[in-house]
Amino acid sequence: MRLSIIACVAMACAAMSAAAVAGERSLPDKNQVAWFQSRSIFHAGLRDNHMVAMTFDDGPNAYTAGVLDVLKANNIKATFFIVGKMARAHPALLARIAAEGHLLANHSATHPELTSKFDADPNTLIDQIREVHDEIAPLMKPTDVLYFRAPYGYWRAAHAAILNADPVLRNYVGPIYWDIGGDITMHDGYVMSAADWACWKHKWTAQICAKGYLREIRRDDGGVVLMHSIHKQSPDLVASVVPALLEEGYTFVRLDQVPEYKQYETPKTAPVVADSSSRHPFVLMLARNVK
Ligand SMILES: [Zn+2]
Repeated sequence: MRLSIIACVAMACAAMSAAAVAGERSLPDKNQVAWFQSRSIFHAGLRDNHMVAMTFDDGPNAYTAGVLDVLKANNIKATFFIVGKMARAHPALLARIAAEGHLLANHSATHPELTSKFDADPNTLIDQIREVHDEIAPLMKPTDVLYFRAPYGYWRAAHAAILNADPVLRNYVGPIYWDIGGDITMHDGYVMSAADWACWKHKWTAQICAKGYLREIRRDDGGVVLMHSIHKQSPDLVASVVPALLEEGYTFVRLDQVPEYKQYETPKTAPVVADSSSRHPFVLMLARNVK
């Protein structure tokens, strides 16, 4: 019998079930080959390919330094979805993430649930993404691709329309979802999958939590892995997962090395989309200023 531990915080659970209802795969809209997608991008193509993309959300904070140490010791590169207010509090760690070859990505300024209230006030949505962009972009290489992940997985098609009218933010690929690390599941007393924040809530050790991650990764033979770099157990969890996978011959990639995501990149020659501008004067102003 497969038991799901009701472990996730209510908001995350709601977002996950909404995502599950939305379906397995997000395809580009018919007339829109790139830009922010109307729903999260679920399919990364890493499963069954023995490839893993480690993604670390919600940092940086002091514990992120330990995660970086483990990644460095194992010589692998990852992607960090940055929260703006955390980056402001830990600028040296933000710089260290980039300096050590990891990819910086955008996870909003204050980690809100991006509900319909943001459609009614689009400038607050633009600010949430723009603030982090302004923090991470100066540390990124010109060839780096911009990725966004929605806090709790909350997303709406109207958000995509608002952000795609912004000449800078429309260059983001996203929202990026994940394959591994969504929840804890048990089978006959075995941890079959795990989610780090839920592990810590249950006071599990990093080693037990790692078993869930490893079993799910092996079962799927790869995938986009969701972890957080902000808990005291985070470095131990990474140290319990990454070397085991390296020994089993897994390849580690940053998100900009995931071929499946290339289809979502905004064409350099794409015209500015400003169909929501009549309702949002600020967006129209941004669209006109594009050079
Ligand atoms: Zn988050």
